[in-house]
Amino acid sequence: MKKILVTQTSMPPYEEFCEEIKSMWNTKYITNSGPKHQELEQKICEYLQVENTSLFTNGHLALYTALKILKMKGEVITTPFTFASTINAIVENGLTPVFCDINPHDYTIDSSKIENLITDKTCAILAVHVYGNACDVENIEKIANKYNLKVIYDAAHVFGVKYKNRSICEYGDISMLSFHATKVFNTIEGGALIYKDNKKYSRLKALKNFGIDDDGYIIEESINAKMNEFQASMGLCNLRHFREELSKRERVFNKYKELLKNVNGIKLNELQENVTPNYAYFPILVDKHKYGKTAENLFNILKENNIYSRRYFYPLVSDYEYYNNLGYESSNTPIAKKISENILCLPMYADLDLQDVVNICQIIKNNQS
Ligand SMILES: *Cc1c(COP(=O)(O)O)cnc(C)c1O
Repeated sequence: MKKILVTQTSMPPYEEFCEEIKSMWNTKYITNSGPKHQELEQKICEYLQVENTSLFTNGHLALYTALKILKMKGEVITTPFTFASTINAIVENGLTPVFCDINPHDYTIDSSKIENLITDKTCAILAVHVYGNACDVENIEKIANKYNLKVIYDAAHVFGVKYKNRSICEYGDISMLSFHATKVFNTIEGGALIYKDNKKYSRLKALKNFGIDDDGYIIEESINAKMNEFQASMGLCNLRHFREELSKRERVFNKYKELLKNVNGIKLNELQENVTPNYAYFPILVDKHKYGKTAENLFNILKENNIYSRRYFYPLVSDYEYYNNLGYESSNTPIAKKISENILCLPMYADLDLQDVVNICQIIKNNQS
C-alpha cells in the first residue's frame, strides 16, 4: 500500500511560482520588507478583512514578538493542549505559564476555569484555537476586561476561520498565524501577527529587524524575524488558490465524516455554531472501552498499513521533561490529559484521494473489537 502522511504541503503550479519570482532577478530585492512582502501583507488584510498584518519568518517568532511587544511580567494563563511553541514563547519572554484545563467539546481552553487561576501576578491569557476550533472568545474577552489582562491568541491553526462572519483573528489584542508548510495556508515557513491598533504596535517592524527603526536607530535589543521575498511569493501564489484549497479539504472532511460518524468509540471533531471552518485537521477521539483499542494501538495499526496519523498533541506540554523543573502536574488538567492520550489526527490535506479516505476508514472499522 502506498505511503500516506498525515499532511501534504499545498503548492501552486510550478510555472505560477516561477512567474511570481521572476522580477526578483531584475530588482535583486529578495528580503527586507520588499515589494512581495508588502503585497502579501496587503492581500492578507484584504482576504481576512482585518486592519493590520505583520509578516514574520515563522509563526513562533511572531508569537515570541507578540509577547515581547506587550512588555509584560508575571504569569500567563494558557493551555497545556498545544504545540511546544506556545509555551516556549512564554518562557523565552521570562513569563511563567499557568496551565488551565480545556473543555472536552472543542479542546480549547475552558474559559469557566480561567478566573480561578488569576492571581495578582497574572498579566495575560494566551489561548489556542486548536485544530481550527474557535476558543470561547467572548467569555475570554469579558474576563480579560474585568481583570485588565492582555489576550493573545495562538491562531496557528485558524487561517481563514471566521466567527460570526468575521475573522477569528479580530479577537484579543494580538493573534499569531503560522504559515508553515504543514498548515492550511503556507509561505514555506512563515507567520504573521494580526492586530487592530496600529499605533500601539508601531514598534513591531523594528522588533523583527534587530530593533532597528525606519531611521536606522536601534530602539531596543531584538531578534531578526523578517519574512523574505521568496516566502512572500509562495504566499501570494497560495493565496490565489486558497478558496479551492478549502473546498478540496471540505470534500475530504465530509467523506471522513460520512464513513466514521457511526463507528462505536470514535468521536469526531464537531463543527461549531457560528464558526466558518477551515478543515485544518481531522482529529478523532478513541474511546478504548467502546472501540476496544487505544489511540496508540490504532496509530500503530495504521502505520503497519503505511498510513501515518499523528498523536497531536501528545504528550501534554506540561509533561515535557525539560519543563520538569517548573513543577507542573498534568493531573491538574485532567481533561487535557485524557484528550491528549486518546486523540489521533488522521491524514488531512487538500489533495488526499477520496479512495484513500475510504481505505483509512475501512482499516479503522475492521480493527474495532
Ligand atoms: C505550527 C504551530 C506553531 C508554530 O508555528 P511555526 O510557523 O511552525 O513556527 C505554534 N503554535 C501552534 C499551535 C502550531 O500548530
